[in-house]
Amino acid sequence: MNPLLEALTQRLETRVAQQLYRQRRVTDSPQQPLLKQDGRELLAFSSNDYLGLANHPRVIEAFTAAVRQYGVGSGASHLINGHLRPHHQLEEALADFTGRERAVLFSTGYQANLGTLSGLLGRHDRIYQDRLNHASLIDGATLSRARLLRYRHADSGHLAELLSRRPPATTALIATDGVFSMDGDLAPLPQLARLASDHGAWLMVDDAHGIGVLGEQGGGSLERFGLGQAQVPILMGTLGKALGTFGAFVAGAAPLIETLINTARPYIYTTALPPAVAAASCVSLELLRQEGWRRERLRQLIDQLRAGVASLGLPLMPSTTPIQPLLLGSSATALTWSQALEAQGILITAIRPPTVPQGSARLRITLSAAHQPQQIDRLLEALAQVRRQLGAPELAQASP
Ligand code: PMP
Repeated sequence: MNPLLEALTQRLETRVAQQLYRQRRVTDSPQQPLLKQDGRELLAFSSNDYLGLANHPRVIEAFTAAVRQYGVGSGASHLINGHLRPHHQLEEALADFTGRERAVLFSTGYQANLGTLSGLLGRHDRIYQDRLNHASLIDGATLSRARLLRYRHADSGHLAELLSRRPPATTALIATDGVFSMDGDLAPLPQLARLASDHGAWLMVDDAHGIGVLGEQGGGSLERFGLGQAQVPILMGTLGKALGTFGAFVAGAAPLIETLINTARPYIYTTALPPAVAAASCVSLELLRQEGWRRERLRQLIDQLRAGVASLGLPLMPSTTPIQPLLLGSSATALTWSQALEAQGILITAIRPPTVPQGSARLRITLSAAHQPQQIDRLLEALAQVRRQLGAPELAQASP
């Protein structure tokens, strides 16, 4: 075999041996609790479609109407001629929703984080990040070439210590997930906002998992803590999770947004997302704002799941959000549990390192307003059965 391919094959084999090999699965149905995979129906608890909007008839209708009006592809980047009316309308709606002067769309959340950090900071600046931040924030720091300092998870005391050693005349930015994607817990935003203000640093919140889910109006972690543009000048949100569509945005003051449009390379050098996705997202946003019952339903399902899992004596991590991880420990245990659940028709993907720290592999259970209480009961029965079959899982360290 070609030696380059041989080296790759060996690397892949090592991954298999370490239980870290990942494979995709092909789904033949829309994103909804009952998924069709390999001709089987599975009850899924792995989607980020928290409000059940990914397959909503009104969202589909808006998408298809916009396809008929604008076609499928946007044809170019936003700064060439790919910025179409639905994109612009969605930006205005997002600015209104977040209570900010402006918003700018990015084609993905990954790009929004890369673009924001690299557009605002350079090699002489500093980025302070929670250790458990999403990979795209970490990669954004690398792209910006600013110095990256990581503080212990949700530890504002550690952050204060790092900030106090900052040399004068450098721009500093603190970046955090609002809701941590693999843990489901919340960042201590009021403390971070205070530190940012004391140290004259930017504060950026990636609220991919908070928008639409937290706060009475679905305004996310910022609404939950009563924080606005003054305390958190840079708000990033994604459209592919609670909004059920695709893409992302950054919202803030006009000079911030204009700077990103002019300097963020992951914004400038990529094709604008399809206009129909933007049109569909406008309708999702209306549903998200109007249908508070979806958040209420989620709260009830979360309570039902937590009470049920507690009575089984299984280690659910502390979380009040729809991300309810069951901590299992080793990658092998997480895979065995995932497979045993699948044998009972339940789909929950095992999350393993490097996505989570060594020894803290888990089943990341996610709930959606589209789930029915009876489906939570089915999950609880399956978990009880797997526990009987495999015994109690080893308990491991939750954080590094
Ligand atoms: N930030 C966080 C916290 C995320 O969980 C994700 C997606 N997993 C992203 C950013 C990236 O968003 P997207 O999928 O739109 O690229």
